[in-house]
Amino acid sequence: MICVSCHKNLLSEDDFTRFSCPSCSEQEIVRCGSCRIKGTLYSCSRCEFEGP
Ligand SMILES: [Zn+2]
Ligand SMILES: [Zn+2]
Repeated sequence: MICVSCHKNLLSEDDFTRFSCPSCSEQEIVRCGSCRIKGTLYSCSRCEFEGP
């Protein structure tokens, strides 16, 4: 698993969130805790939706 915002490998992390893309609902978005707190933009690789 890779954080979609900073591309950090999250295998050794326990602070991250996973959710479906709010636009297409088909792509799983994974973000690390620090990107969530900073509100870093993520983008869906499937529909190219971008969100905070
Ligand atoms: Zn991150
Ligand atoms: Zn999407």
